Amino acid sequence: MKKVKQIIDHAEQHCKAHGSRLTNKRKQVLLGLLQSERALSAYELIDVCKAEFGEALPAMSMYRILDFLQREHLVHKLNLANKYVACVHITCDHDHAVPQFLICGQCQKVKEISINKAIIVEFQNNVENAGFQLVSPQLEMNCICENCMINSA
Ligand SMILES: [Zn+2]
Ligand SMILES: [Zn+2]
Ligand SMILES: [Zn+2]
Repeated sequence: MKKVKQIIDHAEQHCKAHGSRLTNKRKQVLLGLLQSERALSAYELIDVCKAEFGEALPAMSMYRILDFLQREHLVHKLNLANKYVACVHITCDHDHAVPQFLICGQCQKVKEISINKAIIVEFQNNVENAGFQLVSPQLEMNCICENCMINSA
């Protein structure tokens, strides 16, 4: 991952270009997520902000900030875990495909990947053939990371 400061600067420019503003509090929440490689819940992030920045954010404000960061595509929400991760493509210029997430069930480390579009389309077809409609093509996969694999070997 690139230098955190560089990512924050980029995020700030990105917001400015959209006519929104990455305020100090929003920046702190994004920083908290960037520094953690794990997905964090809103309440875990409140603790991080208190410990790192001495900022006591009420839950309401935290959810509002997270909504903002999601709208700006700086943060993703893991729906199954109800936790948040910083987007790995903040400093990229290419279009953002639907993100897929690999989640280590042991250390909660999260990696954002993009799966080949053809695979997603086929997946979607399978879902429809089964009589369901895919609401969100975002996949969140239960995995074990390299580190945990080595440690448990
Ligand atoms: Zn992303
Ligand atoms: Zn990228
Ligand atoms: Zn792990």
